[in-house]
Amino acid sequence: MDNNIKNKNSASNSMIRVNTSAQEISQKKCINIEHGDPCSIVIIGATGDLTSRKLVPALFNLYLNGGLPDSFCIVGCGRTKLNDQQFKRKMEKALTEKGIPDDSKWRSFSKFLHYRSVDYENPGSFINLAKFLKKLDQKHITRGNRIFYLALPPSLYEPVAQMLGESGLSEEKENGNGWSRLVIEKPIGRDLKTAVELNQSIQRHFREHQIFRIDHYLAKETVQNILMFRFANAIFEPIWNRRYIDHVSILALETLGVEHRAGYYEQAGVIRDMFQNHLMQILAFTAMEAPSQFETGRVRDEKVKVFRSLRPFPVEKLHEHIVLGQYGPGTINGKRVPGYREEPNIKPDSLTPTFAKMKVFIDNWRWQGIPFYITSGKRLARKITEIVIQFKEVPHSMFRQTLEERIDANQLKLGIYPDEKIILTFQTKNPGARVCLRSATLDFSYHQNYIGPVLDAYEKVLIDCMLGDQMLFWRQDGIEHCWSYLTPILNECESCDNRSKMLQFYESGSWGPLSTNRI
Ligand code: NDP
Repeated sequence: MDNNIKNKNSASNSMIRVNTSAQEISQKKCINIEHGDPCSIVIIGATGDLTSRKLVPALFNLYLNGGLPDSFCIVGCGRTKLNDQQFKRKMEKALTEKGIPDDSKWRSFSKFLHYRSVDYENPGSFINLAKFLKKLDQKHITRGNRIFYLALPPSLYEPVAQMLGESGLSEEKENGNGWSRLVIEKPIGRDLKTAVELNQSIQRHFREHQIFRIDHYLAKETVQNILMFRFANAIFEPIWNRRYIDHVSILALETLGVEHRAGYYEQAGVIRDMFQNHLMQILAFTAMEAPSQFETGRVRDEKVKVFRSLRPFPVEKLHEHIVLGQYGPGTINGKRVPGYREEPNIKPDSLTPTFAKMKVFIDNWRWQGIPFYITSGKRLARKITEIVIQFKEVPHSMFRQTLEERIDANQLKLGIYPDEKIILTFQTKNPGARVCLRSATLDFSYHQNYIGPVLDAYEKVLIDCMLGDQMLFWRQDGIEHCWSYLTPILNECESCDNRSKMLQFYESGSWGPLSTNRI
């Protein structure tokens, strides 16, 4: 692919810039992938699902597209005893299953792959890992820079961060080389207390600038585009407030059920799985003020201000503000599917919610009184992630003598997935002698006029880790503010009294519980 790859050292502006209005420019494929410093990417838990399905395919694609630094190596670690060859074969198999065959490129890429077995609770094991990485620094000229990606169950974040710290692997040199970064996945805690404790324990060994807390939703092009759309256009921002907007809906609907994640999901439920991360981030991008510069600290500050402005949830009036549901059996895409309670490893009397709709208010000047409806659920009729801005109706209809029906208000839809679109609905006259209105749409498809390669979310996440750019990662204060908001809701919904009272059952393949519109 003829990527136009720039090798800049700035960590602050790794955005892909596309000019869709100028066909000529887009034909030249305006993709810039900045290179980070040479580094070793150490994946701890590399025998697991995330590594085979997401991380190694993303790294291989970056390699094919010239997105990795000039010098790098990838070191898989886990308790499983494997040698380099066995690890390489496992990764090759995973890539083949994903349909990414490129034999000659794979052979050259696999030269940078290594495996080291470690015991997560044995300091000696990590001291040996440190020695091994030192050798690899010389072999691959990676200058002592390391990313430690914890592809592990969350219960292991704390002990492994401690092992890395105690073996000296979290230490950084002063001169810019020899940096050390820690990457962790969701979930970060299961409530405010556990999130704070986890952070305190990780921060004994890594400083905030070294910690990359992933939310791969933020690495989706269409989520990043919310900021471009809002702040690179002059015409939307003046109407992006309580005067013109009636309400905002944020939807993340899935057709999939719990799949193979029963153990995790039974403990988590939909609020921990989707709200305390992806949906809160989308809310922040939708509602935040414009930062004075597109710079990591300022963007994160503005997001945190949104979280701090969330109106405390009226837990004494749960029924007016939240709907919880759990899927029963039903039909999706013509196929019968079981209910949640019949899924493997789920308790037959489970009260875990797989659906939630929440009414949220932001107490600030811009959003006072405007409800944000946030909805997410499994086994619903369609897979949709989108933001819908519902504008107010016209203040006075001069057509009311002639037209009987109400005039539908304007609506702006920012499609995140799978429809990567922006759709504006407005009223127009129906052709003909009678005065008659119809709704029309302006419809923009995100990839329109763009034919260059597109970064997958994990490719973007990995590039930003290599660049040290934390803009799209959670900062600890953001996590804590979100947990402070959600923990009382969880406590109330999970209390013995409410657990079964709150839960409404819905048919798989429907749009959720019948009472969804109650709030
Ligand atoms: P896995 O359950 O596949 O575990 C990864 C590896 O961790 C295993 O191969 C195993 O390696 C080790 N491990 C697993 N359980 C234990 C245990 N009880 N004690 C010690 N070691 C254990 O996890 P995933 O790869 O699916 O996910 C990794 C992280 O990424 C998790 O935090 C998950 O929440 C997050 N995540 C995963 C996604 C996915 O698509 N899979 C998506 C988003 C986030 P070994 O035995 O060799 O040590």
